[in-house]
Amino acid sequence: MSTQTSTDTKQSDRSDTPLVHAVNVTKAFHGNEVLKGIDMDVHTGEVVCLLGPSGSGKTTFLRCINQLETIDGGRIWVDGDLMGYEDRSGTLHRLNDKRIAAQRREIGMVFQRFNLFPHLTALENIMEAPVQVKGEKKKAVRGRAMELLAQVGLKDKPNAYPAQLSGGQQQRVAIARALAMQPKLMLFDEPTSALDPELVGEVLKVMRQLAQDGMTMIVVTHEMGFARDVADRVVFMDGGVVVEQGPPGEVISNPQHERTRSFLRRMR
Ligand code: ADP
Repeated sequence: MSTQTSTDTKQSDRSDTPLVHAVNVTKAFHGNEVLKGIDMDVHTGEVVCLLGPSGSGKTTFLRCINQLETIDGGRIWVDGDLMGYEDRSGTLHRLNDKRIAAQRREIGMVFQRFNLFPHLTALENIMEAPVQVKGEKKKAVRGRAMELLAQVGLKDKPNAYPAQLSGGQQQRVAIARALAMQPKLMLFDEPTSALDPELVGEVLKVMRQLAQDGMTMIVVTHEMGFARDVADRVVFMDGGVVVEQGPPGEVISNPQHERTRSFLRRMR
């Protein structure tokens, strides 16, 4: 993200700088503190799964990363740029809409509900943002969109409208649509939880492939098998704090905290 100019909001250019660097992030809704000081680093190419009971703040944290929510305290940098503006006194302010839009372009997000444009075909859904937001030429984008459709296993569906696709197919189009912006980071917010069970696998398969291809991903999920197999690191959240984190082999197979153990027991 190149629009950031003031030096005081820039991280140093060390090569080990995490792609996402969150420090002591807090967020409350109407006095209800939902994030109570979250620290999290995610490095380029890493796949991090956020686990935890419903209401623990996972989605809110994800939404803070691309500024769908404004944080109350702490700091979040994405690719070295502070996701907010710091004044001389150190107070954090929301960026103006143009700057937010510029930063969001670098971050793909896939929601629980696919939110495809119902009046556009699969191909048109994928082409929409690169053409309308980035101003890319339709012809160039079309080729890339067709490749993305193939990547998500839907190369024979360019002209289908969302209503003609299953939930799993729609979610795969939504993933392709996010990828069309060539993001540095992909955020997934329970991407399979609205799907019928038999459609979950096809979406997870696309996500597995994306992870294998080296995409940096933060995934809120209840799919323990996916977290165990695909995540480099799992972060267990409860009550707005990170309770424990580490490789899935450690946190899922041998959790250190009772809260993690009790959550995992309930997931079985
Ligand atoms: P999780 O993703 O772990 O289920 P969420 O981040 O969705 O948790 O929610 C954490 C808490 O914040 C919940 O109690 C939820 O009701 C509350 N919350 C989330 N978004 C809002 C909002 N926009 N307004 C008020 N409360 C919210």
